[in-house]
Amino acid sequence: IIEINHLQKSFGEIEVLKDINFSVSKGEVVCIIGSSGSGKSTLLRCLNLLEIPSSGEVVYHGQNILEQKMSNAVYRAKMGMVFQQFNLFNNLNVLDNCVIGQVKVLKKNTAAAKKTAMDYLELVGMSQFINAKPHQISGGQKQRVAIARALSMEPEALLFDEPTSALDPEMVGEVLKVMKNLAKSGLTMLIVTHEMAFARDVANRVVFMDSGVIAEDDVPDVVFNNPSNERTRTFLKRIL
Ligand code: ATP
Ligand code: MG
Repeated sequence: IIEINHLQKSFGEIEVLKDINFSVSKGEVVCIIGSSGSGKSTLLRCLNLLEIPSSGEVVYHGQNILEQKMSNAVYRAKMGMVFQQFNLFNNLNVLDNCVIGQVKVLKKNTAAAKKTAMDYLELVGMSQFINAKPHQISGGQKQRVAIARALSMEPEALLFDEPTSALDPEMVGEVLKVMKNLAKSGLTMLIVTHEMAFARDVANRVVFMDSGVIAEDDVPDVVFNNPSNERTRTFLKRIL
């Protein structure tokens, strides 16, 4: 679905991503791990065009989207994003959070958008809360709504940036369970996470980022049990 060639990103003098090359195929679940500041969020944000890469290519269905005329809003809907801090619209209820993008970006009529939203809210177990405002529901519930909102845009892939890091421990499980079910259903997912057990269990591939480069990109068994890079070993020793 998406391929990154020689992607480089600098903020001022600082080179945060250095010659990143990798690709994600349809139905793949890729977990991205690595230390704080290694560039994981910046990579996801470049994939979603929330940041514009300094150089390199982001190829989507054979086209470099950095040159193509497709609107950023439409492209972002195709690469749905789920954030650590949920980023729900606080003034809108749960249902409208899942409707507004479909109407504004995809130009769907409200009735069709509501139906789609209801289907996905049902899928994440939030259909009883459609009239609640974000401040009335828990963190785990907010994140499940954020996932339903992203799914309502019928994305080709979902990008998750530490989706459980802001949650109280007792709510992590309900979100990971939804994500695991999505993975099983064949959704293409790219997940920045510190949940190593989840990565081991659910990912087809694990990418280890270190100081702006991809230091390791392999199946979970190899990355966790027999990594080729010394930095990967050191990182895993520190966190496992
Ligand atoms: P964490 O695990 O803490 O979320 P990360 O791997 O996601 O870390 P990034 O957020 O991608 O790391 O940041 C990589 C580097 O880029 C850091 O040194 C950070 O300070 C820098 N950086 C990120 N965004 C910006 C920005 N908008 N302007 C300047 N520097 C930035
Ligand atoms: Mg980050």
